Amino acid sequence: MSLLRLEDVEKSYGKEEVLHGVGFEMDTRDVDVIVGPSGSGKSTLLRCINRLTEIDGGSIFLDGEDVHAMDENDLRRRVGMVFQDFNLFAHRTAVGNVTLGLTEVLDLPSGEAHDRAMEFLDRVGLAEQADSYPAELSGGQKQRVGIARSLAMDPELILFDEPTSALDPELIGEVLGVMNDLADEGMTMLCVTHEMGFARSAATTLTFLDDGRIVERGPPEQLFDDPEHDRTREFLGDLT
Ligand code: ADP
Ligand code: MG
Repeated sequence: MSLLRLEDVEKSYGKEEVLHGVGFEMDTRDVDVIVGPSGSGKSTLLRCINRLTEIDGGSIFLDGEDVHAMDENDLRRRVGMVFQDFNLFAHRTAVGNVTLGLTEVLDLPSGEAHDRAMEFLDRVGLAEQADSYPAELSGGQKQRVGIARSLAMDPELILFDEPTSALDPELIGEVLGVMNDLADEGMTMLCVTHEMGFARSAATTLTFLDDGRIVERGPPEQLFDDPEHDRTREFLGDLT
């Protein structure tokens, strides 16, 4: 059974239909990369999966369970999310940001939560910055805290929404490095990104979304080198 299955997902904001029947499946350990123009519905799609927004039609299943019927806390624990603008709490240190979900959602005692948070900060190379506040960290460091925060919850799947788009070019590599390591370790990842090097090297499947529809989905080498649709070729050609 697929870890994640979307069937004919539709989403509108008021009268504007943003997703027009999106369907795909991914398995555990897959690294699925989604690309598409600004406004094509990429963020909306990710937000529907962990129910930051509700769908208007179709279904989404996580490990066979309809996410619509799941407890929201349970869903957010099982499906992590990494945001373009980090979404860290400014008044909490790096380690404080990572422990929050552990104490509030997983109900871990604070000592245990702290130890676990430190383990994951270490994993993204930030043990020494544990007591720094977000304002004292670079964008790349902030995003690595965001990734540690997701990982610490032991999710089945992590959604990445343009995790490097807010970063200065020289800081992108450190975040992609962490994402590549996760991919190598078998983390299941659904990533919206314009980083075509990452898509080529790490993706098991690449999807081109345009105007709320999947135009083309397949192995990255197929979309890059032998796409079925001219629109895919034009879009990927502009990025690379
Ligand atoms: P992408 O991430 O591909 O740039 P989005 O999913 O953010 O695209 O947006 C798709 C469309 O939905 C855009 O037209 C955007 O203006 C609209 N949209 C996104 N979020 C909202 C919202 N919360 N309320 C109203 N419209 C929205
Ligand atoms: Mg977006």
